[in-house]
Amino acid sequence: MSSTSGLHHVTAIAGHPQANIDFYVTALGLRLVKRTVNFDSPGAYHLYYGDAAGRPGSLMTFFPWPGVQQGRIGTGQSTSTAFSVPAGSLGWWRGHFAALGVESELRSAGSEEERLLVRDPDGLQLELVASSTEDPRDPWDTPAVPAEHAVRGQHSSVLTVARPERTIGVLTEDLGLRVVSQRGGTTRLAAGDGGPGDIVDVVAAGRGSEGLTAGGTVHHIAFRVPDRAAQEAWRHELAERGHHVTTVLDRQYFTSIYFREPGGVLFEIATDTPGFDVDEPLLELGRSLKLPPWLEPRREAIERAVPRISLPAENNPAADAVGR
Ligand code: ZN
Repeated sequence: MSSTSGLHHVTAIAGHPQANIDFYVTALGLRLVKRTVNFDSPGAYHLYYGDAAGRPGSLMTFFPWPGVQQGRIGTGQSTSTAFSVPAGSLGWWRGHFAALGVESELRSAGSEEERLLVRDPDGLQLELVASSTEDPRDPWDTPAVPAEHAVRGQHSSVLTVARPERTIGVLTEDLGLRVVSQRGGTTRLAAGDGGPGDIVDVVAAGRGSEGLTAGGTVHHIAFRVPDRAAQEAWRHELAERGHHVTTVLDRQYFTSIYFREPGGVLFEIATDTPGFDVDEPLLELGRSLKLPPWLEPRREAIERAVPRISLPAENNPAADAVGR
């Protein structure tokens, strides 16, 4: 079996969408690349953030439900989502977060992989990782977060599980990742060339309590495959290996299959194609509510159901310049 080419996206649950947009666009400097609804529950938004074009490996997505029950980060979940930033940038990020009243905590200072821990408004645990490994990916450039410091994309996801050997078994034998290091209770695995965006850290839970998937927790993590044909092959293979894998679901910007790994984390395998410019031009990404063809007849009711949100102008700078 071939290997996944790395992380595609991480999806988490949030409270009010405006607080979510303000944090991910203004504080973290990502671009809102799609404003749509949860296809399985169209009365609520599904917001996608990423780089300029929303390339796979840069994506963080949310189901925001105002007033959602607060979840608990714990065993059986992806407990931390790390983003890649340039080496030497964490000092700038600390100052940037402090100016916005966002607390952050520096870890592993002086090591080859410095980390800045921060929580989003719903308590979701994030890290900015400044690694000595060069990350060649182009960042989204905004006045608030200039390109020299900006997030390059995902760095890694941390999975906290009670019995790491089973989760590591699925990642290596079924998804084709390889073990690259083992330190304390943490096993690092990598896909592709093992750079930022290709990394999964599996942590032995110890006596930590079980997670509760609700507000402020990760719902699932998604791995990449190039296209539908590759996805079909994976689906067949995963079913053969005894996983309860879903049928192929059309997510409009990619197609998806899902299965739960034995440690409790929901895994998705998503295609790189067709991408986020399939229903609006790149300059306009995120500006208006986009619905897939099968929900378009319900647009009026959906627009009444979802909260009003406003998007910082920096999300569509070129389009704004044209409009003035
Ligand atoms: Zn997903």
